Amino acid sequence: MLDFTLTEEQLKLQKKARDFALNEILPVSHYFDEHDQMPLFLLKKAHELGLQNLNIEKEYGGPGLGLIESALVVEEISAADAAMGTSIFGNTLGEEPVMLCDNTAVKNKYLPLFVREPKVVSFATSEPMMGSDVAGMRCKATKDGDDYILNGTKYWVTNGGYADYCSIFATEDPKARHKGICGFLVDMDWEGVSPGLPIPKMGHKTSNTVSIKLEDVRVPAENVLAPPGGEGFKLAMKTFSRTRPIISAFATGAARSAMEFAIDYANKRRAFGQKLSQFQNTQFRIAEMYQKVETMRLLTWKACWEADQGLDPTVTASLAKFYTTERVVEVVNTALQVFAGYGYTNFFPIEKILRDIRVLPIYEGTSEVQRIVVSRHALNDYKAIMPKLDDLKRLKGDDIKKAAREGLKNQTVWRCRICGYSHYGEEPPDECPYCKFPKSAFKKL
Ligand SMILES: Cc1cc2nc3c(=O)[nH]c(=O)nc-3n(C[C@H](O)[C@H](O)[C@H](O)COP(=O)(O)OP(=O)(O)OC[C@H]3O[C@@H](n4cnc5c(N)ncnc54)[C@H](O)[C@@H]3O)c2cc1C
Repeated sequence: MLDFTLTEEQLKLQKKARDFALNEILPVSHYFDEHDQMPLFLLKKAHELGLQNLNIEKEYGGPGLGLIESALVVEEISAADAAMGTSIFGNTLGEEPVMLCDNTAVKNKYLPLFVREPKVVSFATSEPMMGSDVAGMRCKATKDGDDYILNGTKYWVTNGGYADYCSIFATEDPKARHKGICGFLVDMDWEGVSPGLPIPKMGHKTSNTVSIKLEDVRVPAENVLAPPGGEGFKLAMKTFSRTRPIISAFATGAARSAMEFAIDYANKRRAFGQKLSQFQNTQFRIAEMYQKVETMRLLTWKACWEADQGLDPTVTASLAKFYTTERVVEVVNTALQVFAGYGYTNFFPIEKILRDIRVLPIYEGTSEVQRIVVSRHALNDYKAIMPKLDDLKRLKGDDIKKAAREGLKNQTVWRCRICGYSHYGEEPPDECPYCKFPKSAFKKL
């Protein structure tokens, strides 16, 4: 059965997240954005309210909720401040490799700790010279007895300046590409780990983004999330399949609030003797924004649903990610156009939303990377329902009125595989009358 009704528990969780977003994030968001500062206290508050670690399983002390619950929560948080969505949800990105790995010792040690205490957990695949091409990472993991020694620099690490732990991906051999990659849970207090300065960004200023330098960092065997041999790469990709639907929820939340602000403004601002909302042009813009917000949420929920059903959500996650993160840019731009000059000021929230959401089609795999995932699926794995073009049979009759009454009789059709022309009769023609290819171009249907 297909059902979009939220349960009582889901509605309660959504309300809790909405109250937190409206009462605690929204009023302070502008101030911290202006000062380029991540408000750490809000991460702690989110933890205290039980809005983090939603997917940690019950056996590790977590609530064991699904991705759909995460999407409900982050839509609300991102509606207030998309960058805070990244900051708060960044923890789940960092924890996901621990949840998904096969190392039960690391799960038993850290997952209950993340539930109990407001630890900040980051995630790092990207490097200064590499983002999209995850298999091309250079940060080196060298085996030393049962331990590994890490050397290199990770870049763009969300919350890295505040992190207690970081899921770090490195390679045993850069030439081995996918096969060389391994994953580790690194304690940020270990010797040799040093975060860089916050990277100055266009938006997402309430989210901290830094590099992490690793100099002879010794990782004990118990903190290996995935050994080399291809498992590390798979672990990173499995993580993205579960976190990309949540980026879609960021996009949905931000688009929703931009639309709501635009509706409010259009009902208030007057031009040429009437409210903006009375111009059909504005009404159509609002309809388009509304249409996009609704379809964004549908695709986000579909990807979450697939994950929660135990299906592989990879393709829908990519689809949702590039659909929603491109639509949000359009919705926020449209909202800014409704505001016009005031939208361009920082007295109103639209310019911040626009700066914040511009990164959504970039991080966790650019829109181009998502297109690669989806096109590979469509071209190689997707099972078509329609017959092959060469097998497309077109029947015909002598009398259209009779055919409309009685239907068409089956008959032998020869289809030209080059130009698609259909020939009727027991034998194919000697050559195609249209493309002039010989008899051999015809297929009997
Ligand atoms: C605010 C912020 C937070 C981030 N947080 C994290 C984090 O917490 N952890 C982490 O590991 N990373 C993080 N990132 C990094 C992010 O995931 C990368 O920026 C992203 O993957 C793109 O990599 P890149 O910037 O190196 O671009 P590149 O890979 O250099 O790509 C440049 C351009 O080329 C295109 N391109 C590349 N390859 C192809 C191809 N095969 N076909 C077609 N086009 C292609 C890309 O789509 C893009 O348009 C963050 C980034 C930002 C900006």
